[in-house]
Amino acid sequence: MSWFPWREAPAAEYAVLGDPIAHSLSPAMHNAAYAALEMPLRYTALQVPAGELDQALALCTRLGYRGVNVTLPLKEEALRWADSASPIAMRVGAANTLDLRRRHADNTDAPGFMEALRDLGLGGSPGAALVLGAGGSARAVVFALADAGWSVAVWARRPEQSATLAAAAGGAVQAVQEPNADGADLIVNATSAGLAGDVPPVLWEGARAKACVMDLAYGLAALPFLQAARECGLRGCDGAPMLVAQGALAFEGWLGTGAPRGVMLTAIL
Ligand code: NDP
Repeated sequence: MSWFPWREAPAAEYAVLGDPIAHSLSPAMHNAAYAALEMPLRYTALQVPAGELDQALALCTRLGYRGVNVTLPLKEEALRWADSASPIAMRVGAANTLDLRRRHADNTDAPGFMEALRDLGLGGSPGAALVLGAGGSARAVVFALADAGWSVAVWARRPEQSATLAAAAGGAVQAVQEPNADGADLIVNATSAGLAGDVPPVLWEGARAKACVMDLAYGLAALPFLQAARECGLRGCDGAPMLVAQGALAFEGWLGTGAPRGVMLTAIL
């Protein structure tokens, strides 16, 4: 078994916690990095339902774990658990990376997204972005883009969700009633629609020919959205580069040394 209920946590130094967790690629990615750098470390996956994070972290700490990543549905709980947090974790209101010895929380989704954007050649000058969704990862993406000077339109199927997110982010972020790609340089699918084979109802007609499309989901879950974009002549990428970047930034925060991003990417493809 490659994951464990948290009460049966094995000996390890690092882990990813969430529910569900069986699908997580983080153990493969981090263990490949340790192997490449000949580090005697272990990274495992623990199933932790909502409401049980404090107990799970207490056990991990007793077992000598040094750090954990957290994913759905624990990112807000993780921030509440910490004694201190990075400015971006505070701003997003969620943490995906914890240092157990310092009880410190960080959010590497936001800078990880920006790193993936730079790799796509969109790091230089900020433009106009359309972000779909208003959940945890949409918050990280919207704040990261706004902080980098982008103007952001955010759409969610429940308009009150996008309105709340836009109000929290401030000036350069506006909630929109329809997901219109007209004029956007970047279109980001931060919904989980693809997990159900669904696609947000983007109006692609006015999209710029050079617009860049990114789905934060990876593998099969990203295919419906990327296919819809491709039918309109737009090219895009899935969330694998962001997954590697957020994992690499967590690795570097914990271990203070550069992460082997190429090895990590190969491990999840
Ligand atoms: P959340 O559950 O926090 O948010 C999901 C969002 O998607 C909500 O706004 C939800 O709306 C919306 N949504 C779900 N289904 C549909 C649909 N059929 N049509 C329109 N909107 C829909 O999830 P996360 O933000 O944590 O994750 C979103 C995606 O990003 C997932 O695919 C996840 O795997 C991926 N991700 C990738 C990362 C990476 O490193 N590449 C990092 C983090 C996430 P409502 O509230 O109305 O349900």
